[in-house]
Amino acid sequence: MKKIIPALLLGTLGGMNARAAEDPNFNYHADRFADIEVLRYEVPEFNRLSLDQKKMVYYLTQAAQAGRDIIWDQNGRYNLQIRQLLENIYTNYKGSREDKDFKAFEKYLKQVWFGNGIHHHYSTDKFQPEFSETFFRAQVAALPESLVPTAKGQSVEQMMDILVPVIFDPSVMAKRVNQDGSQDVILTSATNLYGEGVTQAEVEAFYNGMKDPSDPRPVSYGLNSRVVKEDGKIKEQRYTLTGLYGPAIAEIIYWLDMAKGVAESEAQKAYITKLIDYYVTGDLRLFDEYSILWAEDTNCDVDFVNGFIESYGDPLGMTGSWESYVNFKNAKSSARTETISSNAQWFEDHSPVDPRFRKQNVKGVSAKVINAAMLGGDAFPSTAIGINLPNSNWIRAEHGSKSVTIENITEAYDMASHGNGFNEEFVIDPETSKLLEDWLYVTDMLHTDLHECLGHASGQLLPGVDQDALKENGATLEEARADLFALYYLADPKLLELGILENPEAYKAEYYKYMLNGLMTQLNRIEPGKDVEEAHMRNRQLIARWVLENGKKKGKGGKDVAELIKRGGKTYVRINDYEKMRSLIGELLGLIQKIKSEGDYKAGNDLVQEYAVKVDQKLHKEVLDRYATLDIPPYRGFINPVYTPHYDSAGEITDITISWPETYTEQMLRLSRDYSPLTRK
Ligand code: ZN
Repeated sequence: MKKIIPALLLGTLGGMNARAAEDPNFNYHADRFADIEVLRYEVPEFNRLSLDQKKMVYYLTQAAQAGRDIIWDQNGRYNLQIRQLLENIYTNYKGSREDKDFKAFEKYLKQVWFGNGIHHHYSTDKFQPEFSETFFRAQVAALPESLVPTAKGQSVEQMMDILVPVIFDPSVMAKRVNQDGSQDVILTSATNLYGEGVTQAEVEAFYNGMKDPSDPRPVSYGLNSRVVKEDGKIKEQRYTLTGLYGPAIAEIIYWLDMAKGVAESEAQKAYITKLIDYYVTGDLRLFDEYSILWAEDTNCDVDFVNGFIESYGDPLGMTGSWESYVNFKNAKSSARTETISSNAQWFEDHSPVDPRFRKQNVKGVSAKVINAAMLGGDAFPSTAIGINLPNSNWIRAEHGSKSVTIENITEAYDMASHGNGFNEEFVIDPETSKLLEDWLYVTDMLHTDLHECLGHASGQLLPGVDQDALKENGATLEEARADLFALYYLADPKLLELGILENPEAYKAEYYKYMLNGLMTQLNRIEPGKDVEEAHMRNRQLIARWVLENGKKKGKGGKDVAELIKRGGKTYVRINDYEKMRSLIGELLGLIQKIKSEGDYKAGNDLVQEYAVKVDQKLHKEVLDRYATLDIPPYRGFINPVYTPHYDSAGEITDITISWPETYTEQMLRLSRDYSPLTRK
């Protein structure tokens, strides 16, 4: 529950000179379709790595790609079959590629690639094809039989009877993750983390029967398994070498083993060994042991995540979606987060929350800035810009966590946004635009650092409080807590004293952006008539609306702290009192920390329902209309660079080089061809 996703994704041009971009002519733009833009990212400093480090990166990138099929299958039980079918139609299509139906088909395929399945990666709503069923049926009929991916024992007709409604009927598998607590969230979610017919009550009873409330170090129940009903009995199918997804896990293990051979230290070797043991057995205690070793190893340059990690894809927040990040340290920027981390106790001791809810000893908050070398599974093509793991609460409390900010990804977002007209359209005046241009890049990075290094690590539960007490609001309130902690300290003179920020006014750039995004511009990601659903978006609206409502007439001179004003028929955010805004942020942090520490479900739910969910329809329409004039895509993601090993005559690797030769389509087709252990026949 601890990944951070880019807040604005757009428009913000600050601090151009802070960039480390290696190639001034680097082409960030890879593709554009539907509501998506696909970018490329540079990997600065790759060539400074030693040969062994490059090999390590290379082997880990292979492991990152080997698991791709897993996330597709986790996201929906027909996704792999649909992907094969769509790709075979796409590559064997004989008609005009300018044909209207074909164009719509291509757009749909690109959306499906981006969603790792037939649902939108963010809203989790099913994509609606704009090509006809007739066109689709004709294309399937035109395929040679060997290219129709029927399941075992299935005829083409039987396959089509299932897939046609799954693709075309909006009411079938409508949403991947339904979080509407008034319904059975398992039965109404299309995710394949649960078998057909399994109910929420059955899953809850199953795991409650397993949990021992007195265990201070519980495993993460359900993290690596699919829950199914067989002969009326509920059981788990484990994701292991010999279990579900075995063929993909076998390839992951092979490449992890290769990486182990060039590991940087004994500590790193030890945690890779543990991870392999866990993949072989599925034993969640081994995963905890791995997580501890991994979190405690902060010395290695090259690092990675590979496993069933984040649980956003599970309506009950238990099962991990398979993902991988391969990365190495960005040495310069890491100095900044190390300074923050080494002062963690000072920040904890001075936080504006009831001292009972503060940690006496903030443990092992480690932080570094990394460059991503490869994104895989659930982290691809859409990715986080920061990660904080492990997720297990008791491990975090006893052993700390590892927190990273992904600098080259953030940089790519920023570079690709240059000159897109966002500031001119949405920012209230040229002075504020200037403020953003000068300071937003710097404060945005710092906000991510503070959120990851300090925010999630701060605070404690009162004894006996269940860590899941806030239920479906847990993720929203946790993100709010981390954001508020970061926002509060962004304005603190301590940052100047520590030498990580040079201007006492700089925080205003992030404050303005946060309010603009939370009150207005993030609505661009929501379809007309819908509520805010995703946890990070709810969190941002919660904070922005709370500050707006609770700052009425409380600013200097009796003005509102922040307000929405109309000018020339357009709505703008105006902040009248930044200092007072900071104290409101401190107040809300105190409130939310209390809710978390006491496990007060009702207070948390009241807050979320009042501020985080509902959308002002008129304002929403205005934002959508204004965005439409800019043609800025609401979502962005990445294709990966290609790593090529070079060999000597004895077959030894002499170097690994990096390049960006592919389009989005080329990369997706290559991945399906070369890394498809679950679909290979
Ligand atoms: Zn977070």
